[in-house]
Amino acid sequence: MSVYDTNNIFAKILRGEIPSHRVYEDDATIAFMDVMPQAEGHILVVPKAASRNLLDADATSLPALITAVQKIAVAAKEAFDADGVTIMQFNEAPAGQSVFHLHFHVIPRRDGIPLKP
Ligand code: IMP
Repeated sequence: MSVYDTNNIFAKILRGEIPSHRVYEDDATIAFMDVMPQAEGHILVVPKAASRNLLDADATSLPALITAVQKIAVAAKEAFDADGVTIMQFNEAPAGQSVFHLHFHVIPRRDGIPLKP
C-alpha cells in the first residue's frame, strides 16, 4: 500500500506554507515554476488532491488533470517561444520520483538545446 506523506514539499506549497512561483490554478490543480529548471520555463503541474503519484491517483480526477497539463503545455510553448514541449512524470524513487505528491513536468524545448541533468 502506498503511503502519502502530508509533509512533502508540494503539500506544503499547496497549503501555502512555503512560497512558489504559481503560474496557474483551477478548482483541482495548481502549477508553479520548478526551482531547478531543466530548461527555461520548466513548470510543475500538481493536483490539489493528495496522491503519492499516478499509481494511487483517483482515476476520476485524471481527465481534469491531463486537461490542465495540456492547457499549460500550450501556454508555455507560446510564452517561452519554444519549438516543442516535453512532458514527464515519475512514479516511485527507482523511476526517478523525488517529491512524493503526484506531478507532471511541463518543459518547453528549443531546437538543439538538451535538458539540463
Ligand atoms: P520528481 O523527480 O519528478 O519528483 O521531480 C521533483 C521536482 O520538484 C524537481 O524537478 C525539483 O527541482 C522540483 N522541486 C523540488 N522542490 C521544489 C520547490 O520547493 N519548488 C518548486 N520545485 C521544486
